[in-house]
Amino acid sequence: PGSQLPFDPTKKNIVVLGSGWGSTSFLKNVDTSDYNIIVISPRNFFLFTPLLPSVAVGTLSPRSILQPIRYMTRHKERQVTVIEAEAKSVDPIAKTVTFADETEVQGEVSSTTIHFDYLVYGVGAETQTFGIPGVKEHACFMKEIQDAEKMKRRFMDCVESAGFPGQSPEEVKRLLHMVVVGGGPTGIEVSGELHDFLEDDLKSWYPELSDHIKITLVEALPSVLPMFSKELIKYTESTFKESKIDILTATMVKEIKDKSVVLQMPDKTIQEVPVGMVVWAGGNKARDVSVDLMSKLPDAQKNKRGITVDEHLRMAGTDGTIFALGDCTSSSYAPTAQVASQQGAYLARLFSQIAKRDRLADELAQAKAEGRDTPALQKQVEKAENLRPFHYSHQGSLAYIGSEKAIADLVFFNQKIATGGVATYLFWRSAYISTLFSLRNRVLVANDWLKVKLFGRDLARE
Ligand code: FAD
Ligand code: NAD
Repeated sequence: PGSQLPFDPTKKNIVVLGSGWGSTSFLKNVDTSDYNIIVISPRNFFLFTPLLPSVAVGTLSPRSILQPIRYMTRHKERQVTVIEAEAKSVDPIAKTVTFADETEVQGEVSSTTIHFDYLVYGVGAETQTFGIPGVKEHACFMKEIQDAEKMKRRFMDCVESAGFPGQSPEEVKRLLHMVVVGGGPTGIEVSGELHDFLEDDLKSWYPELSDHIKITLVEALPSVLPMFSKELIKYTESTFKESKIDILTATMVKEIKDKSVVLQMPDKTIQEVPVGMVVWAGGNKARDVSVDLMSKLPDAQKNKRGITVDEHLRMAGTDGTIFALGDCTSSSYAPTAQVASQQGAYLARLFSQIAKRDRLADELAQAKAEGRDTPALQKQVEKAENLRPFHYSHQGSLAYIGSEKAIADLVFFNQKIATGGVATYLFWRSAYISTLFSLRNRVLVANDWLKVKLFGRDLARE
């Protein structure tokens, strides 16, 4: 790190917002020799989201799936500035970002504005609650590392309170009823992990309570996992049935209260069901900072789901200096890590192309100024101006469904393969451990898996 080249005022600045899948993949791949890079994110680490539900039940330690962003930037050729702060607003005309330090400890300066030549906008999305009463107050989310830690604490609280002497059978039943809202992959994985926790650990540690634990998955649509093939949906449903996880489809959560959840059943009747814990996995919505940015370009940014971009990921309505990627965009691609990381790698290549194009354009201008005839150089400039568009290559979809089973819709030599079961689970594990960003994370995750196999999950409350 000591030998990194410093910030160079003669080079263009790329400001990168976010340290998630999209921005991290960009940072990993970008050639820093042509640009000054400044990263701004409210968290100074990358979070490996696919394994987040495993943290919520104590299979993995939170630290195992985090990677400090400086671990990566310190290996770049030139110094990358990392600022832990939240972008508050972006001015697409003046090309500035205003950001603030929102942590508990702040210095004398905690808010400032900087200029960018290029902006890589990768702030992700937040959890969609549809304004349903009580969701923010009473449910646990599954998006950030704190969410998984909160869910684990809440679950253990429910179990310990149910074991408190003198609890009535109804109260025990309520405390041990876990409702997961959302039958997308997040809700399915959380339900599967909860079931494993129950089977593998709670049955032996809390034998008097384990029979009363009930997991219910609520989904508003007629089916869970609409993005997976029909046979895998059926396989998931039958696995959940065997695991005694109730799936309520065509059922909508209307309100979440302190000790109950209000459901609209398929026949439109309303039922209030007592619960100990609700996990909310209702999908994505645009962050306020993105809504604010889109509102500054109302003619080009009409899709409320997220930022509209062109085939080079340039934000529509701008002069081509703002690029957006991942969950903050609205496109034909699903909001997945796979898409975001391919977009990050693509943008890194695009910026190398842009640097080359600008270098050649400067050379051509110089040659013309000196009165030299340079048709070959002219051709090179024209070629370099032809920037390649983003192309997504779908590798397949994978999800863990509990009971050491996973489902996978894979693409092999243009053939679609749908597979589910224990072998797919082993594939799921090896696929994720190899996608983890560093050797450090791989060792930590493998070590956690081994620890759970040998000693069970850690039930001590933090
Ligand atoms: P994120 O990864 O969400 O990163 C956004 C970044 O922006 C974060 O660093 C955040 O701190 C930062 N940020 C937020 N606000 C601001 C601000 N105001 N200013 C600056 N920075 C800001 N996808 C898959 O393909 N496979 C999976 O198995 C899978 N499993 C998942 C499991 C779970 C539990 C969840 C929640 C998601 C899963 N996904 C999976 C989806 C995947 O995580 C997202 O699609 C992916 O994270 C999108 O990447 P991103 O970079 O756009 O956003
Ligand atoms: P999602 O949007 O896929 O699913 C949310 C579900 O919640 C929807 O099916 C919706 O109908 C339901 N819902 C919303 N409000 C409801 C209500 N009031 N009552 C009942 N049901 C309600 O969200 P997700 O599962 O968080 O996934 C988000 C993105 O992340 C997706 O693109 C997904 O593919 C990706 N992801 C992928 C994986 C994986 O590949 N293993 C894992 C997690 C997430």
